[in-house]
This record gives sequence, structure tokens and C-alpha cells, in this order.
Amino acid sequence: MRSAVLTCASALALTIAAPALAQESAEQTGLTLDMLAPPAPDPAEVADAALEAAPVWDGHNDVPWQLRGRYNNVLLNFDFGNTRAQGTGPLETAMHTDLPRLAAGKVGAQFWSVYVSAAMPEPEAVVATIEQIDVTKRLIARYPDELALALTSDDVQRAMQQGKIASLLGMEGGHSIGSSLAVLRQMYTLGARYLTLTHSTNTPWADSATADPEHDGLTGFGETVVREMQRMGMLVDLSHVSEATMQDALDVIATERGAPVIFSHSGARAVADHPRNVPDSVLQRMPANGGIVMVVALPGYLSNNVRDWNSRQTAEIERLEALYPGAADQVDADLAEWLRINPPAQATIADMADHIDHIRDVAGIDHIGIGGDYDGMATGPVGMEDVAGYPALFTELARRGYSQEDLEKISSRNMMRVLRAAEAYAADHAGDLPLETPVEKEA
Ligand SMILES: [Zn+2]
Repeated sequence: MRSAVLTCASALALTIAAPALAQESAEQTGLTLDMLAPPAPDPAEVADAALEAAPVWDGHNDVPWQLRGRYNNVLLNFDFGNTRAQGTGPLETAMHTDLPRLAAGKVGAQFWSVYVSAAMPEPEAVVATIEQIDVTKRLIARYPDELALALTSDDVQRAMQQGKIASLLGMEGGHSIGSSLAVLRQMYTLGARYLTLTHSTNTPWADSATADPEHDGLTGFGETVVREMQRMGMLVDLSHVSEATMQDALDVIATERGAPVIFSHSGARAVADHPRNVPDSVLQRMPANGGIVMVVALPGYLSNNVRDWNSRQTAEIERLEALYPGAADQVDADLAEWLRINPPAQATIADMADHIDHIRDVAGIDHIGIGGDYDGMATGPVGMEDVAGYPALFTELARRGYSQEDLEKISSRNMMRVLRAAEAYAADHAGDLPLETPVEKEA
């Protein structure tokens, strides 16, 4: 009697070469043809193989902001080897990011955000941004075995090959350049490789997604900022900006046959209706532009349920504060009771995968990346609470039928293509003169 144990190869050969024989022998052994077919690849193994070949290149992480908030940028007592909870104080809670968890998350390249508050007057924001660039470079230098400063796509590739995390700098918000092309150029020289055109408020030259529109997108100067960024090879980041700003930036770039844009940490608006997310009208322009949406893990952007719960909680706090003016203890007590009856809504790994599915369906597999926003939010989705969670996301995508090649594009190959294209555009325009604008004369 034929052995019931068949290797995948012999089962496949039987099915292809002699289906009748396979059927007959299957009947003899009590096996069905389905059982003889090669087993479907294990999703976790597909994800592992993809992240081994192409580690995650994450578009946005706020560790530098945590260093400023918790440590006043003094690294002496900061241990990137372990940022789990150190105590119960507000500054001792667990961070989302440390070296062991980056390794567990298969992160191979990271845009560290040198974000500073957009509430600062612009000149102060410029100083603070330089301080954030400085602290990030000091952090990278402090861990030379694990981190490597990356200024070019070749630097990223080299660091990944050495098993280090390629560390790039991204500026989050146009306020960081103080409305000055000179500052923009010098930020590039200091190492910044993307500028998000706005944060959550408008700049004097670009509208944000989360403020009342003032400019209907980009002003003329805003268009000049985009052109100058592309001339240098600095990536234009359209996370946080209004839809009109997205469209204006893409129009300027299309006119110049310019380089691809990124969304360093955004979702799809058709899946979760938050103004921070990318509408289909913009997703549809990604194939022509070549850009990518690096999908965010922030629960309020991923899930309408979380958004709804967040606004109900805000409304309840406002109601209680109006009911008990000046009685904070009473407000806290009633809010605790409300929270007991209304447990927080949670986002899931499946929610994040739904955004990726939608962007694939509208823009295509070549236009997706990952931009977690870890340490810039309260928590990630269930099962992806910190940067160690990426393999779980990629396993979910493999389970949904994404091939290893698809997963490698999402994890880092798309981002590599985009940075190389931005560098190629800059190289082609190396002979173009810097765009000049007059500075104000001193009184
Ligand atoms: Zn952000």
C-alpha cells in the first residue's frame, strides 16, 4: 500500500502528471485531492521572509519629542536599551520604542521626527527644530552598533546590510523653516530629508487638514517651497495638510515633472473619515506621481468607532465641566463612572490592514508604506501597541493574500524607490540655481 505521507513535490507531480492516478491512489489511501495539494504557505512564514529580505522602513517616529518632553534633551540618563515603564509618574510611563523592540518589529530604517510644537512663534520653532536635529544625531551617535545616520538611499541600503537601523531625519511642519527658503536649505544641510508642509495649524503659506482654510491650499510662496525642496532632493510630505494643499503640491510637482511625494503617517479617508487621512481623489493621483502613503497606526485615524468614542468622551467632559464649574473632583468622579459604562473603543490590526487594502485597491501596491507614529500617540492598535508589532501586521496581510513580493514593497521597497527618485530628480537639476527670495531689511 502506498504511503499516506507524500511530500509536497510528489503530491504536486501526481496532480499535474496523472490526475486519474492521483485520484485513484487518493481513494485507496483515503486521501482527497485537496489533501494532496501543496499546503498553503503559513502567513507568519511569508511575513517573516518578507521582513527578513526587506525590513520595515517606518515614516514617522516621535522618540526625539519624548527626549525633549521627558529628559529636556539630556541623554545622560536615557537608556534606549529599555524604555519600558520606569515608574508611575507621568514621565515614567512606557515609551513605544526602544532598541530591543525595534529589532523585534523588524524595523530596518526609521525617519525620526524632529517635530516641535506649531504653537511656537516661527523663530523659536526654528531654534527648537535645530535642537531636535541635534538630540537625534546625539542619540544615533550614542548607539553606533544599532543605529546609523542615513542621508541618502545608499546610506539606508548600507545600514540595512550591516543590520543597523538606518536613521533619517524628518521635519514635521512648515513652521520649522520660519517661512524662509534659506532656513529650508540649511535644514537640508543639517540632514533633514523630508518636510511635512504643515502640522495641525496653517503656516503662512499652506493650509492644514485640521484648521480653518486660509489660503485654499498653497500660496505662491508655498509652491516655491515645494519646488525648492524638490530641487534639493528633500521629500515633500503631505501628511497633516488639507486636501487643497495636497492637490496644489501635486499640481506644482506634475508641472515640473517632479519627484514622488510621501505621506509619512496617514490613513485612507474612505476607511476612517478623519481629515488627517488621504481622500480617494488624492490616492488616485499616486500612480502618476509615484508617491506613497505610509499607513499610520494611530487608533483615532484608523477606526471610525475610536473617533466616535473620542468625541463622545470630549462631549461628556465638557458637559460635566459645565455642570460642576470649579469642582474638578466631582468631574473626575463622574467621568470615571462614565468610563466604566462606556469602555474605550479600540482599533485593531485588521483596521490597519483595511487601510492598506483600500490604498492598494485605489492607488496600487506600489504606493503603500508604513508610518506608525509611535511615541507620538497614546497607544497603537490592539496587538500593535509598540514598534514590536509590525510582524503581526504583515502576518495579517499575508493571511489576506498579499504575496511576499507585495509585503516587501510595503515594508521598504516602495520607500526606497521614492527616495531614489527624489535623489535622481535632484541630480538632474544639480545645475539649477537656488530659488532666491529677498529677506526683510532691518529697521
Ligand atoms: Zn503627526
